[in-house]
Amino acid sequence: MDELLTWAAAQGVRVAWRDLGRRAGEYHSSGLILLNPRRTETVQKVTLAHELGHAHYGHTWTDEPRERLARERIADRFAARLLISPREYAQAERLVGSHPGALARELGVTAAVVETWRGEAQRLGAAASGRRAG
Ligand SMILES: [Zn+2]
Repeated sequence: MDELLTWAAAQGVRVAWRDLGRRAGEYHSSGLILLNPRRTETVQKVTLAHELGHAHYGHTWTDEPRERLARERIADRFAARLLISPREYAQAERLVGSHPGALARELGVTAAVVETWRGEAQRLGAAASGRRAG
């Protein structure tokens, strides 16, 4: 979490905590991320990484559902890459096996982040072998 906060500050993004009710976090395109302090430390960390994805890509608010979904996926993929390095993932898998829940506990993230990370690794792996093939 501290690493992410340092990273956010370096990007010029402010982070503050507010009770957001059902929401875990919010990104405001003014450069402000709000986190819900009532969520667990893990959820706050994962949410911060996700909101930093919106900040990184300069996402602004849209009411177009497909575009919103696309942006959420982009932010999720960014968060997964930010939270888990390939080396950390490999180490965790050697320790606890391939179950997403066990990997999530070992890596200090949520199972959803593990699933996203795997999808991303597969996508990038396929792209890399595609380049080698042709
Ligand atoms: Zn989002």
